[in-house]
Amino acid sequence: MKHIGAHVSIAGGIENAPLRAKEIGATAFAMFTKNQRQWRTPALKPESIEAFRRNCERCGFSPRHILPHDSYLINLGSPDPEKLDRSRKAFADEMKRTEALGLPCLNFHPGSHLNESSEKECLKVIADSINIALKTTTSVTAVLENTAGQGSNLGHTFEQLAEIIERIEDKNRVGVCLDTCHLFAAGYDLRDPEAVGNTFRSFDSAVGLRYLKGMHLNDAKLGLGSRRDRHESIGKGKIGLEGFRAILRQPACDDIPLILETPRPDIWKEEIALLHSLEKPEDC
Ligand SMILES: [Zn+2]
Ligand SMILES: [Zn+2]
Repeated sequence: MKHIGAHVSIAGGIENAPLRAKEIGATAFAMFTKNQRQWRTPALKPESIEAFRRNCERCGFSPRHILPHDSYLINLGSPDPEKLDRSRKAFADEMKRTEALGLPCLNFHPGSHLNESSEKECLKVIADSINIALKTTTSVTAVLENTAGQGSNLGHTFEQLAEIIERIEDKNRVGVCLDTCHLFAAGYDLRDPEAVGNTFRSFDSAVGLRYLKGMHLNDAKLGLGSRRDRHESIGKGKIGLEGFRAILRQPACDDIPLILETPRPDIWKEEIALLHSLEKPEDC
């Protein structure tokens, strides 16, 4: 059985996240480590950390199937020195929160050049930001998420991800989370077994499947190569069930968190059950 879950809310305290994930039949989950709309939030309380760990254990979640997501305010490739500094500080804080929660990975979007610096320069700034952040913690792996390539967001090609990873000093502490909607929007086809096989093979040759630490399972509202980030519920978008069936049969997905970020939390439970049904061979 694959480890499938969703990005659940931390309303009322981070310790509620595993309880919410359990309710929808998840065996993996994602969450923010803090209010993601604010730059500064108070440190996690020791009793909250303790309750989070206890609830995870009680609900049967192992830390490697929990993949926190950083705040959308952070831009680790910002061309503005002041904003870059603020982003780096906020990211270091999130890495520390992740470590305090006893979790191995933090998922984040690489960054944007905002048309004020070159792609090359921005990729270097992002890599420098990650190297700085890794020094603030001892164990957390920084997990780059591929993007849809909307606006000036980088990380929409496997080559860009590879270029960032190439510059990371400690390669054991960098990874990738592939978002299926973002892949599709960036032009990587996932609609049938052959397309999925090709996309995974090209990721393996450009980046390396050993770096794959998680996936976001989202269908896409818009067509292949739209470069726009519009998530859709599983089977209701342009990727479709045949694509997700093929994705779930990739051995690389076996022991990593597979997270829904689809637009209707009220049907996450059904979507998780649907995805598990796709895992099974048709003839049994
Ligand atoms: Zn994301
Ligand atoms: Zn995502």
